[in-house]
Amino acid sequence: LTAAETSVLDEIEEQDIDFLRLQFTDILGTVKNVSVPARQTEKAFTEGIYFDGSSIEGFVRIQESDMRLKPDPDTFAILPWQNHEDGASARMICDVIDTSTGEPFEGDPRRVLKNALERADELGYTVNAAPEPEFFLFEEDEEGRATTVTGDYGGYFDLAPKDLASDVRRDIIYGLEEMGFEIEASHHEVAEGQHEINFEYDDALTTADNVGTFRTVVRAIAAQHDQHATFMPKPIPKINGSGMHTHLSLFTEDGENAFHDPDDEFDLSETAHAFIAGILEHAPAITAVANPTVNSYKRLVPGYEAPVYVAWSDRNRSALIRKPAARVPAASRVELRSPDPSCNPYLALAVMIHAGLDGIERDLECPDPVRENIYDFDEQKREEYGIDTLPSNLGDAVDALEEDEVIYSALGDHVAAKFVEAKRQEFEEYLIDVSQWELDRYLETF
Ligand code: GLU
Ligand code: MG
Ligand code: MG
Repeated sequence: LTAAETSVLDEIEEQDIDFLRLQFTDILGTVKNVSVPARQTEKAFTEGIYFDGSSIEGFVRIQESDMRLKPDPDTFAILPWQNHEDGASARMICDVIDTSTGEPFEGDPRRVLKNALERADELGYTVNAAPEPEFFLFEEDEEGRATTVTGDYGGYFDLAPKDLASDVRRDIIYGLEEMGFEIEASHHEVAEGQHEINFEYDDALTTADNVGTFRTVVRAIAAQHDQHATFMPKPIPKINGSGMHTHLSLFTEDGENAFHDPDDEFDLSETAHAFIAGILEHAPAITAVANPTVNSYKRLVPGYEAPVYVAWSDRNRSALIRKPAARVPAASRVELRSPDPSCNPYLALAVMIHAGLDGIERDLECPDPVRENIYDFDEQKREEYGIDTLPSNLGDAVDALEEDEVIYSALGDHVAAKFVEAKRQEFEEYLIDVSQWELDRYLETF
């Protein structure tokens, strides 16, 4: 056993842990659990825990369904919302091993991100990432089902007593801190019932792990308050939706921020400019992965602080990429504003990183930033500035993914094929559905 593995065993002993949840995510980003008695932990480290992957979304074909989970000891955490009287539980995030080859399973999203990080490493970089997940807190009805009724009437950065949900948010933050999160800030977002909790940036793999944990903790603790937390991108029409802005920077082997250049007008290096250019070039295909639901495209419309146009800016929030003000060199970074919290964080980070690295490798020219509010541009002005539009629905986004070799292969053939298949099916189901809007509009008119 490694030192990290031994210290997990000690902690399990000391903290009286009864159950261990071994976690991994499927292609759609849903966290899956295999629960084992804590005394199996040593075996989990030495031999791995076997499971049948055939029923996991997009994992394997039936005839090759044996998978093995290999827990990552660095991800050990005690679950704070479990009642200790029932026996405490802890979790570890796992890599998935294909038992037929003994190699990492190519359908494991964590593996897909590790591949992206290996490519960055070959170019001499480590990747730091920080997400800003937004979510809504809704009341439950008598049967405990989610509604879209909010329990508060707060607005951006409002204080109590208007912000009744701040108690819930406080408990969520305690829970996250118990799981090892470094919380930077939390606030009421623009929309009614909408919140944002920011946690410290980390290396990209840890950040992707953290997003899965974050969503789990937020939902579990909200449920204890009879509230339903949702990361659905646009639960209520005509008000802001929930994004998951993602800040990215590359660091060199000697710990320097490769995105920082004090002599540049925007404090951004050539490397950062090329990275931005790469993301702009691959933006339509990235959208399929970073905005993977039918509902995602209800958020990406003009007027609600979500991006629609493929441009970057050092000022305004209507652009796809923003360069946030950085007080210290280490903080020079780019913020991609399109991702939403329904994405698979491993896959979304992987495609963003590959796109940026492609820009660096091909030394792509970065266009000028756009400083005006692009929502106000008409088509002619957008054409003049050479500004493209993001795909306006899931079907178009999946088309763009299939046409973009760099992004498609960033996912690996297995994940890409399964992802495209699942998303095409989702979009087709949506197309043949008849919505409440249509009934309201047409039922009595015709
Ligand atoms: N909720 C907005 C979105 O959909 C973002 C608001 C903000 O700038 O934090 O992306
Ligand atoms: Mg926000
Ligand atoms: Mg932001």
